[in-house]
Amino acid sequence: MPKDGHKKEHIATEALKKSEERYKAFIAQSTEGIWRFELEKQISIKSSFKKQIDHFYTYGYLAECNDAMAHMYGFTTSQDIIGARLSDLLIRTDKNNTLYLTEFIRSQYKLSEYESHEKDKDGNFHIFQNNLTGIVEDGMLKRAWGTQRDITKQKRAEQQQLFLEKASNMLVISLDQQFTLQQIAKLLVPYLADYCRIAITGEDNKIKEITVSHSDPTQVTLVEALFDSYKNIPNITHGVPKILQSGKSEMIPKIDDNVLKKFKTSKQLVTFVKKIGLKSYMGVPLIARGKTIGAITFSSIQDHRYYTKEDLQFTEELARRIALTIDNVRLFKEAQEAITLRDDFISVASHELKTPVTSVKIFTQVLQKHADENGDKKASLSLEKMDKQINKLTELIYNLLNIAKIQTGRLEFNEKVFDFDQMVHEAVDVMQHMTTKHTLQLQGITNKKIRGDEDRIGQVLSNLISNAIKYSPTSDKVIITLTTKKDSIGVSVQDFGIGMDREHLDKIFHRFYRVSSNTDKTFPGLGIGLYISNEIIKRHNGRLWAESKTGYGSTFYFTMPINQGEK
Ligand code: ADP
Repeated sequence: MPKDGHKKEHIATEALKKSEERYKAFIAQSTEGIWRFELEKQISIKSSFKKQIDHFYTYGYLAECNDAMAHMYGFTTSQDIIGARLSDLLIRTDKNNTLYLTEFIRSQYKLSEYESHEKDKDGNFHIFQNNLTGIVEDGMLKRAWGTQRDITKQKRAEQQQLFLEKASNMLVISLDQQFTLQQIAKLLVPYLADYCRIAITGEDNKIKEITVSHSDPTQVTLVEALFDSYKNIPNITHGVPKILQSGKSEMIPKIDDNVLKKFKTSKQLVTFVKKIGLKSYMGVPLIARGKTIGAITFSSIQDHRYYTKEDLQFTEELARRIALTIDNVRLFKEAQEAITLRDDFISVASHELKTPVTSVKIFTQVLQKHADENGDKKASLSLEKMDKQINKLTELIYNLLNIAKIQTGRLEFNEKVFDFDQMVHEAVDVMQHMTTKHTLQLQGITNKKIRGDEDRIGQVLSNLISNAIKYSPTSDKVIITLTTKKDSIGVSVQDFGIGMDREHLDKIFHRFYRVSSNTDKTFPGLGIGLYISNEIIKRHNGRLWAESKTGYGSTFYFTMPINQGEK
């Protein structure tokens, strides 16, 4: 060979060496796992998918990789992992991995961004994202090169977020506690556990409800037996009773013989744990308003599912939401019960008050007659005042009775056709007698007859006028206006009194609602008049509303349809 040839060859070898060094440095520094898998025996790419996949698991081994790859499996350097079989790393029973390898073959051995489910040296589960290329020579697959990234944490965070959203949606759907618990249990298995137990305590802090869910329903009896074997052991170190007592979360990441040794006091318990195949365990308390109201335990029987600190944190967050839901359901039920009790009380009390007040009224009238006959003016005046107060009392009782009837849907209506203008005139006349300060100005006319309960509609009008008088102590007039449209009549009652802010305009029609700033001691009342009025107008298919501004007075309106034939 000429001298020149030698030199060229030397330069080429040097260049190659340099490039190889650069390549090695690149591989060593990369944070991605870089690998080469070899097949001890090559396989024809014409073989069936199943045969090829079986072949990969049997003959595939890791021939080369960088340290980053070794770290992903819990090893320190590449030397610790090189030689590992594919079947040591890739979980063969996992369906995702069958799909992964199938896709690898289908794509003619060039696959990008595909997930694999693998386990590290301690058996912990990982999700890797892979890019890989197979080397095919003469129709035979020989090896594959690839890179991979550990996306377990990111994937888990995404899944957990989704799960929390799903759980939160589910948690609001029912007020039936037992049903809610079953739904939650179903949600947790198999996503977070192979079986889980939810226990809820009652008032006396004892377990009131308990639900078990297992991915394999035939195992439920065994799981129940395990619980029975330890639930009454005093000072038990783990499990529902312990969590209920301590109010703290707990975890046994890996249940092995060492751990089981500690439970040797209860042989039965150890037998059950082994029978069930328990691998990992965690439990969290359900805490609402500082009180432990229950506990959830999560158990894994899968080889590659070992609970981690992150899992525990996540379940604690989930438990917070579940506890909140359960607590809300409880509070809601308690509130409902209290409301029923209150309504019952109002109904009974107002009923009981009616009879004595009616007698008092009759006797007052008798006494007044006597006083008038005897010319006792002083007594007569007092008895007249007394009678007015009795009227107020009667109205109050009447309103309370009505409210109870509305609640139970028993407010009866006596419908007939009546002259609307006449009804308004009479009501205004009566109300004019109640005030010496205000002039009630009635304007407009409807000329309509309408169908409805005359007394009750009159009651609405009286109520609006009496409010207008009550809440305008320094003004001297109230304006009542009648209007009519093609299909409806309308009434407005305007005062020039204290008024109110916008935010109250809807709420004043709720039961017992009073605007606190404008109803101090100067304005007695119960906050039920407008509620009843609104119910009455609604029952006549009409509408009642208000416009108001603090310091400028209020106008209350109601409209009612004119029934066909009554126009
Ligand atoms: P009550 O007057 O017995 O409290 P209502 O149901 O008739 O009960 O009224 C509810 C609340 O609405 C009152 O407490 C008051 O705060 C407010 N309100 C009603 N009418 C007027 C009015 N004309 N002007 C100002 N505030 C009013």
